[in-house]
Amino acid sequence: MVVLQPEESIPDHLTTYSPKGYRVMKRGEDGWCVAMNSVQMNCGIYETRPAVCRRFVMNGPYCRAIREDYSRDAAKALQESAR
Ligand code: SF4
Repeated sequence: MVVLQPEESIPDHLTTYSPKGYRVMKRGEDGWCVAMNSVQMNCGIYETRPAVCRRFVMNGPYCRAIREDYSRDAAKALQESAR
């Protein structure tokens, strides 16, 4: 969950509120942040991305863990669709 700071000016159509009332980036039906460009697999608002995203270390341990989860889930979905 990408929690936004009060001072961040992310367009309203990209945000929502968590059950606990935090303003967060909205997710699409695929579970990914709606700001993500799924064709180029990068951030569609990179220049104005939230502070928490700026602190995320590309290819760091957390990034690699997310990518491994994604690859595993994608492989599983592919296997299930082939049945
Ligand atoms: S970097 Fe961009 S696409 Fe990724 S979570 Fe943050 S706002 Fe969304």
